Amino acid sequence: MRSILKLTAASVLALAALPAAAALNVFTCEPEWAALAQELGADKVLVYSATTALQDPHRIEARPSLIARIRTADLLVCSGSELEIGWLPLLLTQSGNSKIQLGTPGYLEASQYVAKLEVPKVVDRALGDIHPGGNPHIHTDPRNIAKVAAVLEERLAQLDPGNAATYHSRARSFLDRWQAAIARWEKEAAPLKGMPIVEHHKAFSYFIDWTGMREIATLEPKPGIPPTPSHLAQLLDQMKRQPAKVIVYSSYDSPQAAQFLSERSKIPAVMLPFTVGGTDKAKDLFGLFDDMIGRLLGVVK
Ligand SMILES: [Zn+2]
Repeated sequence: MRSILKLTAASVLALAALPAAAALNVFTCEPEWAALAQELGADKVLVYSATTALQDPHRIEARPSLIARIRTADLLVCSGSELEIGWLPLLLTQSGNSKIQLGTPGYLEASQYVAKLEVPKVVDRALGDIHPGGNPHIHTDPRNIAKVAAVLEERLAQLDPGNAATYHSRARSFLDRWQAAIARWEKEAAPLKGMPIVEHHKAFSYFIDWTGMREIATLEPKPGIPPTPSHLAQLLDQMKRQPAKVIVYSSYDSPQAAQFLSERSKIPAVMLPFTVGGTDKAKDLFGLFDDMIGRLLGVVK
């Protein structure tokens, strides 16, 4: 009798410990939006990211496992501005899921809600094979994350009105902590202002703009075109006349070109986490900016 009672009590406890079934399936293209959806949705959302910080989000395969995931999604959150042009349209077509198609409340293109940088006056593929609609890597400016958070909060509440109060209160809490963090980061990053920087790809343009650094060159000759020996030779020459303080590459770039230039120019090369999961410290959105700023401060002193 006693043991039966014990078992029953244990079963009740086990049941109570199970998380409530998530109300919304959120499919994101990039880890930063997965992290943001998790901040706002907590246990009300089941979040999946199509890419990791170690993958180039411009170029992934529309694998069957991704099609299976997108088929059951209630909300899609992607950077957009053609970042995912090589794979997302195919996934959307194959999904057979009407809830997340362009123009529905289940389709959230984050870059549409911020002021974009590097928007070309004329679209010319000769300027590179990616970024034809402006720079899509908007999440590297934390002020953009706040703008997208406010849009995401409304979408979650619209798609799942039963949990709207939760989404609103979590968004309020997140944005309070986020604004405080931005104020702290802006103080910490003050020594970076005006600093000349070389980046591998224009992955950090928004971060550079926010911190007041100056990008003076990219290792890619054009966005999306891998570094070539002749371009690197030109950069080496440029660094002699106009030295950068640091060369940065992202968690998914090959470090070779940055290291090549670094060794010959004696300018330090630093890997920056491009998104959540890019380094051990970039465990969440707060850790991402802590680590990006920390790594840069480490080389300017
Ligand atoms: Zn890009």
